[in-house]
Amino acid sequence: MTFERRKTRQIMVGKVPVGGDAPITVQSMTITKTADVEGTLQQIYALAAAGCDIVRCTCNETEAAEGLAQIVPRSPIPIIADIHHQYKMALAAMEAGVHGLRLNPGNIRRPEHIRAVAAEARDRQVPIRIGVNGGSLDPALYEKWGGIKPEAMVESAMQELRYFEEVDFDLVKISVKASSVPLMVEAYRQLADATDIPLHLGVTEAGPPPAGLLKATAGIATLLMEGIGDTIRYSLTADPVEEARAGRQLLESLGLRERKNIDLIACPSCGRAEIDVIDVAKRAMEAFGDREIPLQVAVMGCVVNGPGEAREADLGIAAGNKRGHLFVKGRNVAVVPESEMVESLVEWAEFIHEHGTEAAIARVDTAKAEREAAKDRAQLLDEKGADANHSNEKIVEIRKTVQA
Ligand code: SF4
Repeated sequence: MTFERRKTRQIMVGKVPVGGDAPITVQSMTITKTADVEGTLQQIYALAAAGCDIVRCTCNETEAAEGLAQIVPRSPIPIIADIHHQYKMALAAMEAGVHGLRLNPGNIRRPEHIRAVAAEARDRQVPIRIGVNGGSLDPALYEKWGGIKPEAMVESAMQELRYFEEVDFDLVKISVKASSVPLMVEAYRQLADATDIPLHLGVTEAGPPPAGLLKATAGIATLLMEGIGDTIRYSLTADPVEEARAGRQLLESLGLRERKNIDLIACPSCGRAEIDVIDVAKRAMEAFGDREIPLQVAVMGCVVNGPGEAREADLGIAAGNKRGHLFVKGRNVAVVPESEMVESLVEWAEFIHEHGTEAAIARVDTAKAEREAAKDRAQLLDEKGADANHSNEKIVEIRKTVQA
């Protein structure tokens, strides 16, 4: 049985389509400080391994925008910057190269600021989510409608949309979240009647599991079964990996997403890459074919950051110094010649599928593999230095943008 989905327009968030006939996507949000580049990337990789398709990071200060300049080129999934009160942070985030923005109409209210952000987003073709939140509704609308009402939330979104239209910007998705399930369900229903813009579903501040999971599921699943919703996020007071898992599981349980085989994640490649990541990932996909091995396998371009970034994957391989470093759950387990990377991945995946990750780790000398990885890591750092992605040049531009 399938649900008939409401017809929406499609937009692209990086390489991920949202709306139209694209699969419904799972989103989550990092809870690290965005300025903490390594910590944030580690969380992003853990989220991607848990089934997250798009991730949001806060961009609340210049240091966060600077962090994004370093995170974006190394993230395996598109990054959306969450903007709070300062419209200049939206401009800085776009300078950093983010794939999308989220603006709260209740927080940035001056029309000239909204138009400035939308015009820049139009020029750069960066989509924006209009993220209305019941708790931070524009006070004028609160007054007009006599409280947080579905009508007030929809009007807030439509008003923001008009500012966007004034500068010819239409790469938009909308959310009208509230912590009350009946309120958000009604607001989304009204919005779905009013527009064909893709919708991002969520129950805001749902709280800790299990109550938060139930609340979020009640709201999101109700709407999905009515055919409403193009992308979803569980907002839990928990490790965001739980949000991503819950989102993924909900979609799988409703028959809206499927996973039976290898879930191959690969870094997008960046200035540090030691191999052609796209080619190796493609060959690995071909080698696994449609075999029923439901493991997460990571192909990473460099041993400097790869094993750490993809530490949540069951198995992965990272390149360095013409060798492939295999790792299981972030632990180095073996070194193989570059030409045997794909073959070894398949072999290890078969072993893990049959015996589990602990048995795989137990069968090798991990200390030796780690020593080899450390050697190649040191050599790569020597060759390419610490800023292989030229992020520092972008940071100089961000500072100029914010100070202008
Ligand atoms: S090449 Fe290395 S640093 Fe660059 S995205 Fe891949 S794993 Fe991360």
